[in-house]
Amino acid sequence: MLTIMRALILSDIHANLEALEAVFTDAQFWGGFDAIGCLGDTVGYGPDPAACIERLREFELVAVAGNHDAAAVGSIDASDFNDYAKAAMHWTAGQLDDGHRDFLSSLPMVSVQEPFTLVHGSLRDPIVEYLLDRDSAMGTLALLETKYCLVGHSHISFVCNEIQGEPGFNEFPEIEPFLLGDDRLIINPGSVGQPRDRDPRSSYAIYDSSVSTIERYRVAYDIAKTQQKMKTEGLPLHLIDRLNHGL
Ligand code: ZN
Repeated sequence: MLTIMRALILSDIHANLEALEAVFTDAQFWGGFDAIGCLGDTVGYGPDPAACIERLREFELVAVAGNHDAAAVGSIDASDFNDYAKAAMHWTAGQLDDGHRDFLSSLPMVSVQEPFTLVHGSLRDPIVEYLLDRDSAMGTLALLETKYCLVGHSHISFVCNEIQGEPGFNEFPEIEPFLLGDDRLIINPGSVGQPRDRDPRSSYAIYDSSVSTIERYRVAYDIAKTQQKMKTEGLPLHLIDRLNHGL
């Protein structure tokens, strides 16, 4: 799917419809897209799990499962979730109909779409491990069979390149085409619906196969509107507040 086109690379939407719509609009401004690669956690935390699933499914879509997606349909035990995540997860489960549940249950842990492998956390532990350091990067590079790996889960964007077997983490710059070259890479586009790098704007990327680049963008969205919906639904205040701070 991702081989001959422009693909919107999204992760950690977390049921934030305002953020998702802002990303769709912004992506049109930057040249549009033909398909979506989604790196998991479409639901959880936010107030619009059903609508976010439905919006994504309007497009040509390749998606993998995140821990929140799996927990919402009971495919994993959520006992290691913190209290806020657990509360949101129970609320989320109650918002889904059979179609949403079938969609989330059908998501693979890993999807190979040359030249990428898509996974939520890491190849070593697809929906649990956070890929943020040398050890976790080495674990994924050892299992990576395509040239590049796309991950989410940490809500922190980066480009990790492998040079002579050693992973090196670098910032994923904004509005600057990153050329996909010979080095093997692990790339995190950041989070659409709950950024955690102290910048509250949505983060996402677009892959353009015609020039073999991936480019990251940030876009502001109506945070107050998302927060108002969360208040109405009685979602935890901590989850509402953190959206202001990008944490
Ligand atoms: Zn997440």
